[in-house]
Amino acid sequence: NTFTSPPLNEHLLSNIKLAQYSTPTPVQKYSVPIVMSGRDLMACAQTGSGKTAGFLFPVLSRLFNEGPQEVVQKKNNRGSSRDSQKAYPEILILAPTRELASQIYKETKKFCYRSFVRPCVAYGGADIGQQLRLLGRGCQVLVATPGRLVDILERRRLSLKNIRYLVLDEADRMLDMGFEPQIRRIVQGEDMPGPTGRHTLMFSATFPESIQTLAREFLNNYVFFTV
Ligand code: AMP
Repeated sequence: NTFTSPPLNEHLLSNIKLAQYSTPTPVQKYSVPIVMSGRDLMACAQTGSGKTAGFLFPVLSRLFNEGPQEVVQKKNNRGSSRDSQKAYPEILILAPTRELASQIYKETKKFCYRSFVRPCVAYGGADIGQQLRLLGRGCQVLVATPGRLVDILERRRLSLKNIRYLVLDEADRMLDMGFEPQIRRIVQGEDMPGPTGRHTLMFSATFPESIQTLAREFLNNYVFFTV
């Protein structure tokens, strides 16, 4: 049991080896082939199940295989530093808390090592200026909490029009924390491609009516599994 079937990108495999992951966890065994095949996913899984790598591996593998996309960025009128440019991420991962967001970010950095992919993280309760500066230098993968992401969108420092993969991690916890308006604003905003124009993955520890409703609205013809 390894990470070679279906085959993940070679560079990603070398980073997985560096991280000393040798055997996929059950979540990873199910999620990798589903996401690699291009299907949307609703998965019920707990923290500690390896769900982070479960969504990162197939998404990063496809991103690495496709190579860097050419993004046309408008220079701002002052023609000033690249730090103040708008970011156009291709992968957006939403998480309920700064702890979870920074954990996912750390994991993403590990697997993007020595690749063209630049991950960024944005959460509340920390200096937004620094987060905006880093975003402005280029960002393919953005890990964010919903409130801070709305703030950044309102400052027009971020466009979601290039999003190809959207991940909602611990979706039930995000709803429990009252983030539904922010999530709807982000996922159903005019900038974001619709359910058929992106790949969407939802992870949740529980599957109450409120999550089933979101899954019906956000996902397209999805595969469901529970571990
Ligand atoms: P998660 O459920 O994503 O928060 O992962 C729980 C912990 O398991 C994290 O510390 C991961 O780095 C680790 N982990 C995830 N998948 C594997 C794997 N296939 N082999 C070894 N460690 C793993």
